[in-house]
Amino acid sequence: MNAVPHLGVLALQGAFREHRQRLEALGVRVTEVRRPADLAGLQGLILPGGESTTIARLMTDFGLWQPVRDFHAAGGALWGTCAGAILLAREVLGGPPQFGGHQASLALMDLSVRRNAFGRQVDSFRVPLAVRGWAAPFPAVFIRAPVIERVGEGVDVLARHQGQIVLARQGRLLASAFHPELTPDPRLHALFLEMSLTVSA
Ligand code: GLN
Repeated sequence: MNAVPHLGVLALQGAFREHRQRLEALGVRVTEVRRPADLAGLQGLILPGGESTTIARLMTDFGLWQPVRDFHAAGGALWGTCAGAILLAREVLGGPPQFGGHQASLALMDLSVRRNAFGRQVDSFRVPLAVRGWAAPFPAVFIRAPVIERVGEGVDVLARHQGQIVLARQGRLLASAFHPELTPDPRLHALFLEMSLTVSA
């Protein structure tokens, strides 16, 4: 294992620069992932927020679906934030009507996620979120956020907002409905770093 941790941020669309900055502040070497070869040597990969239909289309164009699944199967950690959480989910509800409601996803994490569950862009909001086991709440920014409507048996629920699941972990998979990269609080990036370095296949 490298002395300096090396993580990637999927950099096709969305808030990938902010994730990069948060990771670099933790001393992580960061690669922006656009092609399968960019995954080489990474210990974890963040799928950022943005627009899941757009990111999914670009993942098809860049041939990234199977390489990201293989990366995870080989021991890599994955963290999906907002649109990224949609891409991790086994089941996506509320997919785009122009695709008959179907939304492509990696289907790696045993979740059912509903898109745009908190309303439209104007309904974006910020709340102090109680995270299981943490002394102080996390400042969570929600932007046209999804909710996790169902979790499978192996999934740990780490936070809820108004009773709805917004943060969950399954082994070396992490899903957050909100945008932790848009606040200076480093705790979730630190958690993902720890997951990337300590959780093995
Ligand atoms: N509503 C977006 C989607 O469905 C997600 C929004 C976000 O990532 N902030 O992809």
